[in-house]
Amino acid sequence: MKSILKDKTILIMGVANKWSIAWGIAESCFEAGANIIFSYQGERNRQALEKLTSNMRSVHLYKCDVTSDEEIIDLFGQIKENFGIINGIVHSIAFAKREELEGAYYNTSRQGYHLAQDISVYSLVAVANHARKVLTDGGSIVTLTYFGGEKAVPNYNVMGVAKSALESSVRYLAADLGVDAIRVNSISAGPIKTLAAQGVKGFNDILHIYEDKVPLKRTVTQREVGDTAVFLLSRMSRGITGENIHVDAGYHAIGLL
Ligand code: NAD
Repeated sequence: MKSILKDKTILIMGVANKWSIAWGIAESCFEAGANIIFSYQGERNRQALEKLTSNMRSVHLYKCDVTSDEEIIDLFGQIKENFGIINGIVHSIAFAKREELEGAYYNTSRQGYHLAQDISVYSLVAVANHARKVLTDGGSIVTLTYFGGEKAVPNYNVMGVAKSALESSVRYLAADLGVDAIRVNSISAGPIKTLAAQGVKGFNDILHIYEDKVPLKRTVTQREVGDTAVFLLSRMSRGITGENIHVDAGYHAIGLL
């Protein structure tokens, strides 16, 4: 693994703090020899990233709130100007209002539905579109999803529907971008205690189910997701696109009673 991403430049979008899955991916990419560019949502994330990356070589930070087309265009404009070509992008971004992540799905508000789709799904589409100008040597785009996009998981609600759309978007983007040698895949991660996950009612109960019942009898770590992301960003996965890889200790493979 040590040099699998040597000479590769990877943009990582979605580090909020040291618990973020994107941070686990960044650590794995760093260990694999990649040059890393980070984009962050707002000032608080920037400060967290500055602390987290203080020991890393050549770190680059750019602001990009994905609800803004201008900020997405500006991000890739700056990357083009400063780096020319990059080789991969990790999209580790999602958001839904806390009140939409409990109770019955039919209570979802119109505005809450749009917000979840905009930030958690459309952002990948817009990023893929504008990233084409820096992935001119081909490349790999990786996004993060959850089992709640495949089956109805209690309380995941509007985010589950967003993840279904995200997984479908991965397939459509893979179909569009294959001609440019750009691959698009997702990782379906098991539950990990992060800021975003804490917003889902009953999240801690899901963690306990994992420890008792899934094939590996444990939850997964950020770094296990990170190492799979390195695989998807590297040449090792050059024949894979439009795929969803489960890093969930086997949960997706079993029927729970
Ligand atoms: P997190 O809170 O650490 O990361 C979510 C990130 O989304 C944050 O960095 C936040 O700044 C960013 N974001 C939200 N709105 C944004 C906007 N408008 N513009 C730019 N960035 C924005 O939580 P996480 O769990 O690491 O989430 C990362 C991804 O992993 C999400 O897609 C999430 O759905 C997915 N995921 C999480 C789990 C889990 O159990 N934690 C499991 C499977 C999939």
